[in-house]
Amino acid sequence: MLHPFPMLFDLPDHETLYRALLDRDTAYDGHVYAGVIPTGVFCRPSCPAPKPTLAHVRFHDSAAACLRAGLRPCLRCRPLDPVGQREPLVSALLRQLEDDPCRTWTNDDVAALGYEPSVVRRTFQRQLGIGFIEMARLRKVAG
Ligand SMILES: [Zn+2]
Repeated sequence: MLHPFPMLFDLPDHETLYRALLDRDTAYDGHVYAGVIPTGVFCRPSCPAPKPTLAHVRFHDSAAACLRAGLRPCLRCRPLDPVGQREPLVSALLRQLEDDPCRTWTNDDVAALGYEPSVVRRTFQRQLGIGFIEMARLRKVAG
């Protein structure tokens, strides 16, 4: 596996995480996400975008936690794309979501695209820690 950390990953202290952010340390990708308070965007540590100051960063241990905190995914580092193997249905639905973030999604919409809603929910839960419908709702609120 790619992951250098054990399954239960306790976040290091804020300054260590901030240093990883400045270093664009890919070892933290998938384990730590940086929420930037003034912009309301969240990033992978390896994001190529200019880094915010320490005081403006809030670290979260999952993309789902960032979404629940009202943050929206960075368009440069695409933090919702899982690290490593990615299910085609996850990629396809994430693309739909980014094309139209204001849309209200239901399981019927998912089914209309030819996906089984329960499979979509389980796959999103496994890869991103959050179901697609909930993610779409939070994404819409974040704008
Ligand atoms: Zn980013």
